[in-house]
Amino acid sequence: MFISFEGIDGSGKSTQARRLAKTLNARGTETLLTREPGGSEGAEEIRRLLVQGRSERWSAETELLLFTAARRDHVERLIQPTLARGAWIVTDRFADSSRVYQGLARADLRQLVEELHRLTIGMEPDRTFIIDIDPAMALSRSQTRGGIEDRYETLGLGFQQKLRKGFLELAAETPERIRVIDGSGSEDEVAARVLAALD
Ligand code: C5P
Repeated sequence: MFISFEGIDGSGKSTQARRLAKTLNARGTETLLTREPGGSEGAEEIRRLLVQGRSERWSAETELLLFTAARRDHVERLIQPTLARGAWIVTDRFADSSRVYQGLARADLRQLVEELHRLTIGMEPDRTFIIDIDPAMALSRSQTRGGIEDRYETLGLGFQQKLRKGFLELAAETPERIRVIDGSGSEDEVAARVLAALD
């Protein structure tokens, strides 16, 4: 079983991915927690090119190629071998992030994203959880723990609102795979919603 978590910056998806992997392991289902961009040695190297430096370092097209290259390595080296031996994968982001960030929010590259995905990745998670939260709430929540303010500062609240809308549209288009989880409330409350949606 291949599960992905998606959402805007500060949505709490990384925390929820971690918690779900822990719960599944405790239940006796061997589950590997991983993330994008990254997750394999090569992809982590590409991650450094993507997250370091100015946000406009790469054009949207180049950025998409780098994210896709990282994803290909992640799939080849980690995701496929893990699934092949019968373990589960929980990943913090997968292809839906490219559909929304590069395909829609940064530029209108939806068709290129889909073509590249078909040609070089060709797989989807069995289940995707979008942790949905209002960007203003994500920002105010993060100010108590730090970390994402810089992304909100450089790209703005409007960018995060565009992302949120994109994720929700994607969910409406793909109801058989994607579940939208209300990301408001406590960590425990959101984790319970995720488990209920999975069971
Ligand atoms: O989820 P995480 O915080 O690890 O993501 C790293 C950075 O990459 C974030 O700033 C996120 O907004 C960005 N990102 C992106 N396009 C993707 C995936 C992530 O711009 N396809």
